[in-house]
Amino acid sequence: MDPHETHCIRCGQPVDKGLRGCTPQSRSVDHIIAIELGGARLSRDNVALAHYGCNSRHGAMVRWAKHNRRGHTVSRMIVDVDPHSL
Ligand SMILES: [Zn+2]
Repeated sequence: MDPHETHCIRCGQPVDKGLRGCTPQSRSVDHIIAIELGGARLSRDNVALAHYGCNSRHGAMVRWAKHNRRGHTVSRMIVDVDPHSL
């Protein structure tokens, strides 16, 4: 993750890096391609700054897609999303 990142990769809003704890506006490290979908856990190219709340919502979507047997199309859609366009 680029240490100079200032905005959330999911919603595009600024992230207050001074916030502590797990509030929706706190910072977190988000995996651009979810680990559950084959994304690299430790690759710098696969992590980005995100709000804790945005990261949680995205993670919930990925888990829903993975466990939904008819969710293959949804999974593919998530993987194909360009994170810089969000
Ligand atoms: Zn956000």
